[in-house]
Parts: sequence; C-alpha cells; structure tokens
Amino acid sequence: MSTVLFHEIAFGPIRSRRLGVSLGVNLLPLNGKWCSYDCIYCECGYNADNRDDRKIYSRSEVYQALRTKLIAMREENSPLDVITFAGNGEPTLHPDFAGIIDDTIALRDEFYPSAQITVLTNSTRLEDEMVVAALRKVDNNCLKLDTMMADTMRKLNVPAGHCDPERTLSNIEKFEGDCIVQTMFTRGYHNGERVDNTTEEEIALWLDAIKRIHPRQVQIYTIDRKTPEQSLEKVSVEELRSIGDRVKALGIDINVAG
Ligand code: SF4
Repeated sequence: MSTVLFHEIAFGPIRSRRLGVSLGVNLLPLNGKWCSYDCIYCECGYNADNRDDRKIYSRSEVYQALRTKLIAMREENSPLDVITFAGNGEPTLHPDFAGIIDDTIALRDEFYPSAQITVLTNSTRLEDEMVVAALRKVDNNCLKLDTMMADTMRKLNVPAGHCDPERTLSNIEKFEGDCIVQTMFTRGYHNGERVDNTTEEEIALWLDAIKRIHPRQVQIYTIDRKTPEQSLEKVSVEELRSIGDRVKALGIDINVAG
C-alpha cells in the first residue's frame, strides 16, 4: 500500500486545473492520520497506520506556519486562488478549529484578499455549533455525504461515532443550502463484504437527500490514487456524468471530477 501523508502544516501550493493555485493546511499530525471516519478509500491510509504520531499543533503554531508561508509566497509573487483545509484526517477535530478559521480569514485578508478559503470535512462534527459557525464563515464548506444507507456507511466510511446517515443529513440541513456536498462513488469488496454506493437504490436515496439539502453545488468524484482497500474500482466518467445529470435535473449545480 502506498498512500500519501502531508508532512507540513502549510503545504504546497499545488496547481490544479480545477482549483487553480491551492495552498493546503493540515491541522492533523504530520506523520500520522487522525480522523473520525476510516474510509476504505482514504488516500492517507487507515487510522491505524503510523499510529505513533498523535501530535497536533497549537492555534499559534498553525498561525505562524501559515503566515510564514504566505509571506514567502507573496515575496515570490506567487499567485494564490484558494487556501484549502484538507491534510491527514478531519480538520474539524482540531480543538481550536473555529479560532484557526478566524486567523486564516484575517491572514487571507492581509496577504491575498481575493483568495478563497475551502474546508473539506466529513460532516461528523456538525453537532458542535462552533464548528458549524466556523464552516459558515468560509467561502467553500465541502461536506461529505457518500451514502444514505447505514450499512454502506459502516463499510465505506467506517465511522468512529454514530452510523446514522439520517442524523448526518439533518446536521447538513443546518446550513440551509449554503454548502457544497461532496460524494465519492466507488465499489469493491472489504473484508469479504460487497461495498457499492453506486446501485440504483443508493443513488435514489442519495438524490432524495441532495434534494432536501439543496446545496450550492454537488461535487462527485471517484478514486484517483492508491487506496488502502485495493479492491476498490474507479467509476467511469460516463457513469459519474449520468449521476450528475440527475443532480442537474433537480436544479442543483454539479461538478463531476474525472
Ligand atoms: S473522511 Fe477523509 S480523511 Fe477521513 S478517512 Fe475519509 S477520506 Fe480519509
């Protein structure tokens, strides 16, 4: 298995056709993964891998790392389109997540006022009102919802807490549509069990949820790099586009990666 970890707090910038120039922020350990899910497709590997590193950095250390990076980028006249919270796990698990978002907004305004701030979250911490309030402040809050079936959530996302997609959905509805929903589609086997969130039953239930959320945008994608569960399949672009067409038919903006 060869999954990837980010070994800095502020990493990149990375250039991509979709995001432009993106500076990554990792609030999790630099040599290990910490997440409230343990998705079998996670590009960072399983939570149990690299167990020895549990160190997370303080709000002031994150602030300094980000400030130093932004100063260096500005001195080099480097462009910046987006600051993206991703990294080795779930960023909202950081105990000072809300404060770090405030700091990041201030740094963005000081150094790159036209850059956007994006947070990729797995939606497991939306029962904490401070996390919800912080996510409401950023330009792009991308909330994971891979399935509306508890059995698939258990097998695909492997949650540490509740395994109740309806509860996750109600938490996402707190955003009253001011959010982006992100969904990974894949299928394969794990521990001898079939895992597939692309069946008609899955897609129909997921579309009902999307209709209820009515997000600003839905982003769908499939596996792109090595995954810890190696039996997982990449879903074809045609299949993703056909799911995307059904989202579009609901009057919701859709972004299909692939
Ligand atoms: S939610 Fe993201 S970081 Fe966490 S296990 Fe899943 S893919 Fe990995």
